[in-house]
Amino acid sequence: MYDDNTAATEFWLLVLVFALVFGTISGIIARKKGNSPGGGFWLGFLLGPLGLIIAAVLPTNTVGLERDDPDLKKCPDCAEMVRDEARKCRFCDYQFNASRGQDEGEWNRSVAARRLFKP
Ligand SMILES: [Zn+2]
Repeated sequence: MYDDNTAATEFWLLVLVFALVFGTISGIIARKKGNSPGGGFWLGFLLGPLGLIIAAVLPTNTVGLERDDPDLKKCPDCAEMVRDEARKCRFCDYQFNASRGQDEGEWNRSVAARRLFKP
């Protein structure tokens, strides 16, 4: 009786370890694809290898990926993510006035103008 219980405990411990391993891998896959890492974890945790396959074939969530991208800024007008260097929003044509790119462009232009008028 005691041995049976130990075997059962070891079996469920093994199942738990496998579930955690598959959950972690699925979570990493989901995160790389811009999906919720928590959702990916539960997929692998509950479904094992099957959840891992589901996490891998799920469509890439570009909105989620863009949210993590440090090179992107949020448009204050339409709340879409656009490139940090952009001067104009690609979704609503909003003009970014205080953007870094514009300052650099203006500085380059003044340097070019000074060179042009140099005697
Ligand atoms: Zn916009």
